[in-house]
Amino acid sequence: MDTRPLLDSFGRVHDNLRISVTDRCNIRCFYCMPEQDVHFMERGEILSFEEIERFVRVAVRLGIRKLRVTGGEPLVRKDLPLLIGKLTRIPGIKDLALTTNGVLLSEMAESMYEAGLRRINVHLDTLDRERFLKITRRDDLSKVLEGIETCRRLGYGPIKLNAVAVKGLTEPDIVPIARFCRERNIEPRFIEFMPLDGQQLWDRNRVLTAAEMIEVLSREISPLVEIPDRDPRAPATEYRFADGGGRVGFIASVSKPFCLNCNRIRLTSDGKLRYCLFAIEEANVKQLLRNGGSDDEIANLIRANVEGKWIGHEINSVRFVPPPRPMYSIGG
Ligand code: SAM
Ligand code: SF4
Repeated sequence: MDTRPLLDSFGRVHDNLRISVTDRCNIRCFYCMPEQDVHFMERGEILSFEEIERFVRVAVRLGIRKLRVTGGEPLVRKDLPLLIGKLTRIPGIKDLALTTNGVLLSEMAESMYEAGLRRINVHLDTLDRERFLKITRRDDLSKVLEGIETCRRLGYGPIKLNAVAVKGLTEPDIVPIARFCRERNIEPRFIEFMPLDGQQLWDRNRVLTAAEMIEVLSREISPLVEIPDRDPRAPATEYRFADGGGRVGFIASVSKPFCLNCNRIRLTSDGKLRYCLFAIEEANVKQLLRNGGSDDEIANLIRANVEGKWIGHEINSVRFVPPPRPMYSIGG
């Protein structure tokens, strides 16, 4: 097998794979899913753990070192700790993380920890019950908070908190979320609202930008000082509070796109490979996995997909076309 690094035509090396394990979810964040009539994939369409593991083993030979398991909501996938165990045992994997909405965390954190998971990102936009309900259309804030406490008690680390920032809605949440995290040694990452909702609700005027949030946090808590990039390929720009009270990350996908440093590829739960969150085209991995494709054929498909990668999304251009799948079906 050709084991050269996974290089695209712009010289970017890809070592990071995001794996979506389901498109299903137990809540309904408005910027990701419609409230009703969500069309989920048939179960037979979804890759099995064995298929995912095989794909990852091939990808590791091409230089993939970091994995993130996501969804939909990954914790609704039955027996997820089994997959976590399989992935942590693959030689060559240096890092494994999970992104979750936290609703099922208090019941699942322990078995996930035992399976080898240590790094976790919990998605929480607000500490206000009413706004949580408005955003997610579910009354589950207390479960998420309980889940975070369970992870702290079990010794997960680092724990990060993903907060999507929406103008006209989450301004009152920025400071409380940052304080909540400071008090618990958790790093918040504020994510600019992206056009991935599938219902075309996104509007540029609803993007609360990283610069606006930095200004508010610096004024209300303590000045934020940018930390020189240790890994320029990481999507978040990191800051520290000048008073020593912790760090804050910003994912400024809209106001400051970071595509030029991208090192990520994505496997959807129905076995399609995407070189970008916003990609229009996909490579059909499942077809190879289910029809006797060899490891070399899978490797060639991955390489061809990465070689064809575009320079970046065009959210800020009139040419922008939203991806044909919404966020929950791609894997965030
Ligand atoms: N269900 C899990 C969760 O919510 O964390 C994992 C999947 S979710 C699609 C992954 C991340 O995408 C979430 O943490 C959320 O912050 C982010 N997200 C979803 N829709 C978004 C949007 N339209 N703009 C920006 N971020 C979004
Ligand atoms: Fe579910 Fe995550 Fe999408 Fe919210 S962002 S609807 S939790 S998949």
